Amino acid sequence: MNSFQELNLPKSLDRAIAGMNFTTPTPIQAQSIPVALSGRDILACAQTGSGKTAAFAIPILSKLLEKPDQTMLILVPTRELSTQVTDVFRQLCFHAPSLRVVSLIGGVSMQPQLRALSKGYHVIVATPGRLVDHLERKSVSLQKLSMLVLDEADRMLDMGFAPQLKQIFRFLPKERQTLLFSATLPAHIQELANTLLKNPARISIGAISSAVPTIQQSTKHVIQTEKNGAILDEINTRQGSILIFGRTQRRVDRLAKYLASYGVDTGRIHGGRTQGQRNRALDDFRTEKTRVLVATDIAARGIDIDHVAHVINYDLPQVAEDYVHRIGRTARAGRKGEALSLISAEEKPLWKEIEKLLKSKPGASSQKRAMGTEAQGKAARPRIQPAQ
Ligand code: AMP
Repeated sequence: MNSFQELNLPKSLDRAIAGMNFTTPTPIQAQSIPVALSGRDILACAQTGSGKTAAFAIPILSKLLEKPDQTMLILVPTRELSTQVTDVFRQLCFHAPSLRVVSLIGGVSMQPQLRALSKGYHVIVATPGRLVDHLERKSVSLQKLSMLVLDEADRMLDMGFAPQLKQIFRFLPKERQTLLFSATLPAHIQELANTLLKNPARISIGAISSAVPTIQQSTKHVIQTEKNGAILDEINTRQGSILIFGRTQRRVDRLAKYLASYGVDTGRIHGGRTQGQRNRALDDFRTEKTRVLVATDIAARGIDIDHVAHVINYDLPQVAEDYVHRIGRTARAGRKGEALSLISAEEKPLWKEIEKLLKSKPGASSQKRAMGTEAQGKAARPRIQPAQ
């Protein structure tokens, strides 16, 4: 599939795709959309920023435009991702206003969601906890569900959503089409896939767990107590928007405060902030009111802000695979980006794990060579050349 026209999609959907300036399908779209339209289950592993959302949204809307008497459900791990996915659906529905897309997320009032549901719904984008609330109070019904998408499925399980997922599955019809999207495919996802999917088409774009090749990755070894100063130096020598990841809510707060005291416009996002605060911080960063956003791993998945030029790991992630997700926040949709990791002596074992993950996948040999150079301490800001 080389163009969206080949798919013979409903006209209103074609017009919306053109309006979004999507001319050529991305690889995950080229592979997934025809399979999803054919009705088959999918287990897809695709790099972050690869156009995954439209890969499931386009077939879903195409089916709904042909047969509106059905419900489609997309489960996502975070509220921010839910909002983002909902926006993509709404843009794709621009010329089909009769299709109703509802976002059900926690941390905000139930009332607007209840009102929206009472007007009818075709697509539900939800975080698991809030969907369970709605199912229990019977404000939503999934009896007419024909398609289920689990987006960022590995993250959902990491974030402990397994019990809620179990509850949700009790409400789902057995006869349905299921698409499972994940940037990584660890063993527990394969297991989940085996229990949920029927003879799925397996689609994998690029190396499993690999980062986007246009990200220039580098590391800097620093003493733990000198990380704040190192971050400030990096901010002053780099241009463009910077997303910084810290390990804990407290460390994120402290770093943001430190940067603000040096006059850097800084926002912060973590699970300890209210949804309103999180939305404001993300909006300010998205609209470039703030140049720097400091976040915990809550922002590591799915967030799609195309002008993020740099991702800096103030602290390394505790789980190696989160490294791939974090740095995937830059170099979105074919752009270039840089990722820097500050590594303290205590974090060396964590970095070893990340190296192991990157080396274990196809195409990582050039990373291995470049890391060797870095280990010899040649450059002040050593560069790890990404796999080509
Ligand atoms: P996603 O992986 O769904 O978060 O998408 C990443 C980015 O790619 C978003 O900014 C999309 O708007 C963009 N995108 C998705 N599909 C296409 C396409 N076919 N052509 C151009 N850009 C796209």
